[in-house]
Amino acid sequence: MPPPCSACGPTCLPCSTGCSDAPLPAVEPVTAPRQPNQLRRWLLWAALVAVVCALVGTAMVLARRFQENRVQAQLDEETTALVSDIRAGLYRNIQTLQSLPNPLAQPDVWDSTAADMLLQRREMVSLAWHNLAFAPKIERVSPYMVGSGHIRSAADRLPDIALACTSARRLSGAVYAPSHFRHFGDGQGMELMEMCLPSLYQGNLVGYLVVTYALPGMLTELTDRMAVRGRGVSLTELDGTRLAISSSRPGGQTFVTEQVLELPGHAMKLRLDSPRDRLDISQWGATALVAGMSALLLVLMIMLGRDMRRRQRAEWALAEALAFRKAMEDSLVTGLRARDLAGRITYVNPAFCQMVGLRAADLLGSGPPAPYWPPDLADEYQRRQAIRLAGQLLPKEGFESVFRRPDGTCFPVLIIEAPLIDADGTQTGWMSAILDLTEQHRIEAVSRASQDRLQATARLASVGEMASLLSHELNQPLSAISSYATGAMNLLTHAHDTDQATQLADVAGAMTHIRAQADRAARVIRSVGDFVRRKQQPGELAREQVSAPQLFQAILPLLTLQASREHIHIELDTPPDCPDTLCDRTMVEQVLLNLARNGMQAMADGHPAATSGLRTLTLSAHLQTTPEGKKQVAFAVTDHGAGLPDEVVANLFTPFFTTKAEGMGLGLSLCRTVIEQHGGTLTHTPAQPFGTTFRFTLPAAHP
Ligand code: ADP
Repeated sequence: MPPPCSACGPTCLPCSTGCSDAPLPAVEPVTAPRQPNQLRRWLLWAALVAVVCALVGTAMVLARRFQENRVQAQLDEETTALVSDIRAGLYRNIQTLQSLPNPLAQPDVWDSTAADMLLQRREMVSLAWHNLAFAPKIERVSPYMVGSGHIRSAADRLPDIALACTSARRLSGAVYAPSHFRHFGDGQGMELMEMCLPSLYQGNLVGYLVVTYALPGMLTELTDRMAVRGRGVSLTELDGTRLAISSSRPGGQTFVTEQVLELPGHAMKLRLDSPRDRLDISQWGATALVAGMSALLLVLMIMLGRDMRRRQRAEWALAEALAFRKAMEDSLVTGLRARDLAGRITYVNPAFCQMVGLRAADLLGSGPPAPYWPPDLADEYQRRQAIRLAGQLLPKEGFESVFRRPDGTCFPVLIIEAPLIDADGTQTGWMSAILDLTEQHRIEAVSRASQDRLQATARLASVGEMASLLSHELNQPLSAISSYATGAMNLLTHAHDTDQATQLADVAGAMTHIRAQADRAARVIRSVGDFVRRKQQPGELAREQVSAPQLFQAILPLLTLQASREHIHIELDTPPDCPDTLCDRTMVEQVLLNLARNGMQAMADGHPAATSGLRTLTLSAHLQTTPEGKKQVAFAVTDHGAGLPDEVVANLFTPFFTTKAEGMGLGLSLCRTVIEQHGGTLTHTPAQPFGTTFRFTLPAAHP
């Protein structure tokens, strides 16, 4: 059954040696992030580029088609406009023809008017007046056709003309006869078409006006020249047979549009051939837009790809850093624990779980009180934690505490706590590093034990050394006692020679001297006995309040033994304002004794002091205040011996270093350990005019 933790302090060895057998939490192996398959990534990119290229290609084809459709639609509109132009021209001609005078009544006027009309209307080849039997009576030929002898109405056309005129009479309007090709000889000819218009006189039908149109003339004269420039305009039969053409068909790829030219009695098609390269820049707009956007898309894709690569690299680096951090945290022997502002645990590393013998799942979200707090100390811990965290009093060197494992074993820990600050600079909790001090405390205990053993050995060595001094010192009182005893015996032997009263007085005097000398011998022995007997508990610094003179007086009898033999004068210097010190009295006495004895040995014969006559050993103590305002008592032991050569200084505090034949070389190293245990330092400086001063400080006791 382990002891209760309240009975165990951070320095408690038996409790801290308790070891948990609880199963330790498994540490997850940390694996570095694997890079994705390079080939797969490239294939994905290639597929993406292919899809984007296909999309861009399709978009461009569609855009091109869209543009072509737009051009086609525009051409259709233009062709419709051309057909309307021709129709409007023909209609204007009909109106002009209707205004012609009757050729029977005014043949001359008709003739001149017809001549004018033919001059102005180049599409008209001839203008004739037929009687009601459809026979041509008057005919005028266009001045532009002079020389074409066969232009006049041909007999073979009369049936068609008669048919058209019959229809015209029935419809009371203009009717067109089917077109026909007329040879002019020499391989020349032209597609012509007659139009018949009933001729009225005083409201009665008197004949027919027959106009012969040249189809090429119709194309050139009745259409907008600007609209047909650079394009092929032609009139065809409904089956596509070419009848007339106004300008040559453009070579290469063309847009073709056809519109039916529906005339009363006859129908044809107007065909417009437009070269594809006539698509102007505005018509390329959609394609250019798609191409531009595609290029932009490609650029964006490349940039996105680069950005993704950069991000991927950053992600890998981050993942690696995380894996490294996790590996580091998992392999740490220091326990790590994070808590939120309410004191609940938010993170623990495997070392912490191992330390307290609990799983991370049991710890996360728990506390306060934490599951590893000893139940008997939980209240105190909670109070301590509240004060510490509220006041932000976080000692940099950390603080010691005791934790408890589920099996009840307690162990000492050192907790170093720091605020947990997030990226915005806000405190989100506390981060603690926890060190298990079990092993450290064990080592400290072992080292303290060996230190104690060493000190005991050194003390015994001093005692051995003093034994020879003792024999010398005790010699005097013992020989005095022997002399006085012999004298007293003589007095008693020759008692009858002298008067009784005088005898008794002499014996009493001798006895008094004997008692005094015996007391002196007893004192000498007691002083050594006191020193040897004053033992302390191993591992403890028994601090008590003691004054500097008390310390000096305690070792003085021992010092005088050696000092009288070496003819050294011991001086004590302690000003009255020197405060008491708080120290382990026995240890500090040992330090002072070591330093004083070293000093006296340094002033032994053969050293400068031996001839100079300056054979003084000074022990002094005075008040000293540190820059932080702490009060201390500064001790100094000054001799006027040979001083410290450089090679001795280099090894002064090395254990077992000595220049003396009978020395152990432990004195100064023990002195330094004792002084450091008291929180002070041991230093040395040359003394004036020669010799050495050893100095050390001890904390002053509070009044
Ligand atoms: P020990 O006295 O057994 O030699 P110490 O550790 O006390 O061991 O001293 C180590 C060495 O330091 C001594 O042997 C001596 O040479 C030198 N030493 C110590 N104190 C003095 C001193 N006051 N003056 C000169 N030398 C000294």
